[in-house]
Order: sequence, then C-alpha cells, then structure tokens
Amino acid sequence: MSLFFDHAEWICDRYDLESIRMDARVTTITDTGRNVEVDTTRDCITTRWCLLAVGHGRSFTYPEWATNLLSSNPVTHVWDPTFDPDAIGETASVGIVGGGITATQLATTVAQLPGRDVVLFARSPFRVETLEANTDWMHFSGVTEKLHAHPPASRAREELVTEVRYDGTIPPYVFRRLQRALEQGRIELERSEIAVATEAGGTVVTTCQDGSAYCFDDLICATGFGSPYDGELFRHLRQQSTLQTGYRGAPVLDDDTLRWMRQNGTPSRIAVSGVAAQQVLGPFARNVIGAKRAGTLITGFLESELDAEKQEVEL
Ligand SMILES: Cc1cc2nc3c(=O)[nH]c(=O)nc-3n(C[C@H](O)[C@H](O)[C@H](O)COP(=O)(O)OP(=O)(O)OC[C@H]3O[C@@H](n4cnc5c(N)ncnc54)[C@H](O)[C@@H]3O)c2cc1C
Repeated sequence: MSLFFDHAEWICDRYDLESIRMDARVTTITDTGRNVEVDTTRDCITTRWCLLAVGHGRSFTYPEWATNLLSSNPVTHVWDPTFDPDAIGETASVGIVGGGITATQLATTVAQLPGRDVVLFARSPFRVETLEANTDWMHFSGVTEKLHAHPPASRAREELVTEVRYDGTIPPYVFRRLQRALEQGRIELERSEIAVATEAGGTVVTTCQDGSAYCFDDLICATGFGSPYDGELFRHLRQQSTLQTGYRGAPVLDDDTLRWMRQNGTPSRIAVSGVAAQQVLGPFARNVIGAKRAGTLITGFLESELDAEKQEVEL
C-alpha cells in the first residue's frame, strides 16, 4: 500500500498536478459543440475537451432502516466524506454492516483496539475470491467484444457486467484476518439482518429480525456503492444535456474512444473513464488497470484530433 502511495505522490510531483488543481465541485457540464463549459462551485471554465472521472460520485447503497437516520450521528456510511475512523472512541461499541471486503477490513481494523466491542452484521455467507472478476477481463481485448456485441448503454451490457463481477467478495488474505479476529473473540459475527434502528441520546439501538438487540456508539454501513449513473453530476447531465443515455441512465459511449455520444449521433467533446465506462471496458473499468486503459484510448484519440487540427492550420 505504501508503495502505491509513494508512486502516486511521485506522479503528482513529476507532472506538478497540484499547480493545475482547482478545489471546487463541478455542478454542470455543457457540450457547446466547439467547446465544453464546466460550471463549478467557484468559476465557470471553458475548455476544448473534458474527461469525466468522477467515480461513483457519492452514490452509495444504504439499508432501508438507515435512510431516516443518516443525516445524524451515530449512523454513517464508510464512504461518506464526513466519516472519520480516527474519531471512533477507544472503548466504543461499534456495529459494522456488510459482508464484503470493505466491511471485513473495517471490522478487523477497528477491532485492533482491545477496548472496543465490534459486531459485524453479515447476512450472507462470506465469498472468497482473489480478484473482482476473471483475469481475461484485465486484457481488454477479445472478451470485451462480448460487451460490444450489444448496443451501447443497453440493459444487456449492464447485466453482463453485473454477471461477470464477483461483487461482495473478499480476497483470501482479508478473510484469514477476519477468521483470526473471530476466533480470538475480537469481533462478534451477527448473521441476522437489522430490522429497525433507533437513535437514542448519541447511541443507536438496533433490533434484528431474529429479535436480538444491540446498542452502539457508532453504526457504520459498508454496504457498497450505488449505480455510477446515479451520482449527482450524471443525474444532472441526464436531465439537462443533449448527451445520449440508455438503460438506467448509462452514458452512450463510443467503444473506441470513450467519447460520450450526442443525441444527434456525433461524438461530443466529453469522454468518460472509471466505473461509468464499465459497459465499454468491463468489470475492471473501476480499477487502476481500467483507468490506465481508458487513458490509453482517450490520449490516442486526442493525439489524432490534435494532429488533424494542426494539419488544417498548416493548409
Ligand atoms: C477500498 C478500496 C480498495 C481498492 N483496491 C484496489 C486495488 O487493490 N487495485 C485496484 O486496481 N483498484 C482498487 N480500488 C479501486 C480504485 O480505487 C479505483 O480504481 C480508482 O479509485 C478509480 O479511480 P477514478 O478516478 O475512476 O474514481 P475515484 O478514485 O472515485 O475518483 C473520483 C474523484 O472525482 C471527484 N468528484 C466526484 N464528483 C465530482 C464533482 N462533481 N466535481 C468535482 N470532483 C468530483 C471525487 O471527489 C474523487 O476525487 C479500490 C477501491 C476501494 C474503494
């Protein structure tokens, strides 16, 4: 992990990325034909090209019982920007909801302090897999043709990605750590699902479907991400722009360049990478290797566009 962070820091220094960073949230993007207008919480910027690499854009999955409690402590989501694991008390009782890699890693980390009581709510049996999908999908050739055989942004593509992803799985080394913590009694495993949760003076009281009850100082949902097309920016673009969308709001992307297609069938000046490009790149679109592949495709078409523009100027 530290090697990855060192590498990321080296890249930032090498390209002086800090000097081009604007600390602002993008609220709207408009493809005007010749340019792209990017509205932010600070300024409006006009640019020739725009790459949307917004990840899940704060689209998370919550259990139904949590929806009325989320705006208030002590219930939170692990990916909520306000969640701070260092703020958990040394002797706190902590409930963690979820049965995938994030929930199990969080549980084993939180349980490292012996004064804490940690309960992991995992309703299904743990599934152990080394990777999130078959390694064939890491090569982005051959197997991605299975996706491209279906229309862009179609239900068939979305279902294929879902089918081949091993969602909710845990790698063996994380599972071993969990097993040790369970054997040593540092984590209690609760298989029954929470039915009701009620806030009570800074704590939360939960009742499970089998009738068992707990009281927690912190209850953390590690229940995964929602649809990448339901993030704030994608939802806004779906309603406001002339860009094409398909099944469940997926962007209609060109398979060779990842450019978002306009409703008139021409490619826009907006390209998409990350999880929202999964219907083109497959289940690893959201991983580092998928980001690298998207980078290759996008810089490839940008270079040829710039060459063509240069030739036009010379003529
Ligand atoms: C726990 C965990 C472990 C992982 N482990 C691995 C691993 O071992 N190997 C691997 O390959 N991948 C791993 N991944 C996946 C890896 O993190 C992703 O590949 C990578 O983060 C995806 O990069 P991204 O740029 O597409 O999106 P993100 O990293 O999600 O970045 C999106 C960025 O866009 C910003 N943003 C969103 N909306 C707006 C807006 N409206 N305006 C401005 N900014 C906005 C966000 O603040 C964020 O900074 C892991 C992910 C998690 C969560």
